[in-house]
Amino acid sequence: HAKDAGRGAFRFFEPRMNANARRQLQLVQDLRAALEKGQFVLHYQPRFASVGGALLGAEALIRWRHPERGLLAPAEFIPAAERTGLIVPIGEWVLEEACRQITAWSGAGQEAWVVSVNLSALQFAHARLVETVRGALARHEVPAHRLMLEITETTAMHDIEASCEVLAALTGLGVGISIDDFGTGYSSLLHLKRLPANELKIDRGFVGDLARDSDDAAIVSAIVALGRTLGLRIVAEGVETDAQRSFLTEVGCDSLQGFFLGRPVPAERFAETVATQVPIDG
Ligand code: C2E
Ligand code: MG
Ligand code: MG
Ligand code: MG
Repeated sequence: HAKDAGRGAFRFFEPRMNANARRQLQLVQDLRAALEKGQFVLHYQPRFASVGGALLGAEALIRWRHPERGLLAPAEFIPAAERTGLIVPIGEWVLEEACRQITAWSGAGQEAWVVSVNLSALQFAHARLVETVRGALARHEVPAHRLMLEITETTAMHDIEASCEVLAALTGLGVGISIDDFGTGYSSLLHLKRLPANELKIDRGFVGDLARDSDDAAIVSAIVALGRTLGLRIVAEGVETDAQRSFLTEVGCDSLQGFFLGRPVPAERFAETVATQVPIDG
């Protein structure tokens, strides 16, 4: 009887496992189709100079206009895309689309905005990356300094030799490099010093609790000082309050991003959103 019970228990879980596997398989098929059907879209979150409040550009953030489930955030599909390698063609689309948008904005008289694009770990490790970036810039006649690439600290530090090589090739093209989610990984200072990068982006985990957590305030100040020493610019993400904005400005962050200053919006709404933005004084 014990054997029967065991077998029964096993069978009990089987349909659930199958359902999960089926869902994953369906997701991957849907992602592939989404790319062909043009269901992905980039939203743009403005970035401002901390002092003076000038609009510097935007971070491009992918969304999936899912025919049944509505607008999906990257957390719902990027992990599966990364696992299956689909992030490579999706990432190529993102670069292409961001470059197309930069040129569209140039045509509308905005010739100084810098657009940041996120790269996943797999994309960063992919041999084709430098060629993909070069090709996208060339096809849309985008001056390289108008594009910034964001890689997370964890990705950058995973294989420091390889990272230095890829980042040197990318900075050689003239694009900017930002180390995203900084403070959540384990950077050796020696490695950080070697990394060809232009900017550290302080993870929003440190920004959210600034008012309540004095450790976070100390960490943020330390990151700014470290970045300064290494000749890097500092951007903070996740600025949700005016108090956070003024603290980050006072400790010396160069630029700021966050819901307090502007949410990610489709490109069509970007210009109007920032036009109605109340100027902030630094
Ligand atoms: P990330 O690069 O760190 O992007 C910042 C995330 O924080 C975005 O979430 C943004 O909407 C959100 N955010 C911005 N300001 C605030 C704020 O004030 N408060 C809070 N709570 N959140 C804020 P999103 O768009 O859901 O993107 C999540 C992550 O997905 C990104 O983190 C990035 O790692 C990844 N991702 C987004 N677009 C792409 C892409 O095109 N390619 C790749 N490979 N990854 C992407
Ligand atoms: Mg980012
Ligand atoms: Mg980030
Ligand atoms: Mg983050």
